[in-house]
Amino acid sequence: MGKCYLCETEQTDSYFGYWCKDCRRIRHLINLYGLEKVGEVLERVLVRDTSKQEHKIRDCLKDEIEVRKYNLRNKPVIKVEEEVD
Ligand SMILES: [Zn+2]
Repeated sequence: MGKCYLCETEQTDSYFGYWCKDCRRIRHLINLYGLEKVGEVLERVLVRDTSKQEHKIRDCLKDEIEVRKYNLRNKPVIKVEEEVD
C-alpha cells in the first residue's frame, strides 16, 4: 500500500485507495459540506494571523474599558461579596 495522498504520512487504507482512514473521514466531510465550507471552517478555527489576533484582543479590551468607564460615570462602585454556599 502506498502513502495517503492527503496527509502524505499514513498508509492508504486499501491497496487501490488514495487516502488513509483519517483522511478518508475528511474526504467524507468534504463530500457532505463541500470543499469551500470545510476550508472556511479550517481557516477560521485553525488559522489566525497575527493581525487578527491583535484585532481580537483590542476588541475585547475595548469592550471592557467601555464597561469600566460606564461604571465609573454612572454607578457607584459596588463591591460584590463572594457568595458562600
Ligand atoms: Zn492521510
